[in-house]
Amino acid sequence: LLIGVPRETAAGEKRVATVPDVVEKLIKLGFSVAVETGAGDAANCDDDSYRAAGAKVAGSAAELFGMADIVFKVRPPTLDEVALLRPGATLIGFVWPAQNPELMAALQARQVTALAIDCLPRQLSRAQKMDALTSQAGVSGYRAVIEAANAFGRFFNGQITAAGKVPPAKVFIAGAGVAGLAAIGTAANLGAIVRANDTRAEVADQVVSLGGEFVKVDYEEEGSGGGGYAKVMSEGFQAAQRAMYAQQAREVDIIITTALIPGKPAPKLITAEMVATMKPGSVIVDMAAEQGGNCELTVPGQAVVRHGVTIVGYTDLASRLAKQSSTLYSTNLLRLTEELCKTKDGVINVNFEDDAIRGLTVVKNGELTWPAPAPKLP
Ligand code: NAD
Repeated sequence: LLIGVPRETAAGEKRVATVPDVVEKLIKLGFSVAVETGAGDAANCDDDSYRAAGAKVAGSAAELFGMADIVFKVRPPTLDEVALLRPGATLIGFVWPAQNPELMAALQARQVTALAIDCLPRQLSRAQKMDALTSQAGVSGYRAVIEAANAFGRFFNGQITAAGKVPPAKVFIAGAGVAGLAAIGTAANLGAIVRANDTRAEVADQVVSLGGEFVKVDYEEEGSGGGGYAKVMSEGFQAAQRAMYAQQAREVDIIITTALIPGKPAPKLITAEMVATMKPGSVIVDMAAEQGGNCELTVPGQAVVRHGVTIVGYTDLASRLAKQSSTLYSTNLLRLTEELCKTKDGVINVNFEDDAIRGLTVVKNGELTWPAPAPKLP
């Protein structure tokens, strides 16, 4: 079968679903591969590098979709792109079925199969190698610290120089999931003093192992909801958490917020008043901007200055490190393809006996197969 990799069409998206190194590995699995001209340009992969890896280069999206049995994408396809898919083709990429009902209807009407990488059952340990949410959140957490450092007017590390003593920057991370932990490690490596908080107390050890200090909320409440994710906390907890965050806002130079609750708007953790008490020149990077933001003053997609504090609300942090995020994403899709093609003969089998494959199949030959039943845990 032929795997097609179109150019991403979402505004500002720099990632590409397959890098040349992965093209070679897909060919070894028995597939042929085509990319749309320019698909990898923004991720430093030019057409010639794909040709050298053995891919064909198609001159347009229509030509590419017209020849592809399987389409690898990053962002959910537009309705125009769905109309270009061949009936019977398989789409692999982010779909977000709960947020995109029109897209789901279009995929069914087009009689295709859609594998949503965002629906992978992450709790299965053998799914980790395919977990693109984790790989992209890791890149985003790293990039959030780089954006903070860029907007901040001082060093992260403390220094004693002939020109004077510089104190280390203090960084507070709200939410210590995949992105938050990546941010903790990156900020600690740059030499900052790092503190973090999460409603799930079980992450405290991970925070410490990456060089951070876990700051507890003075209120006893279990923070884990289903599947290792967070839940909405009680009013009492939220009040105690606000008091602690208000104190951190007065003390630290940089706040990076990553807090999300599945299916709910992002919790508002940093109020306008807290921003007003931060030191001038401080920075907030709100990684929850796309889901409504953890800070009241965040403007999604923009960096703004409020009360002398730069508030970064970029929603494309992984795309801002396009080569890295594309390489990791491609490897996630390669591992998925290996699971789909155990016979290594360039043919895929969407096997519903396999919990990982079942979980991410949201449409099969035009039939709605989402949401999948919960996987059986070993
Ligand atoms: P996420 O992006 O949904 O949320 C980010 C973090 O914000 C979470 O740690 C959450 O607890 C925290 N949070 C939510 N509300 C908060 C609040 N009010 N105050 C402070 N913090 C708050 O989470 P994620 O990064 O996708 O990871 C969620 C879980 O999934 C983690 O336990 C992670 O280890 C787990 N996970 C497991 C696997 C696996 O088992 N293979 C793979 C990936 C992730």
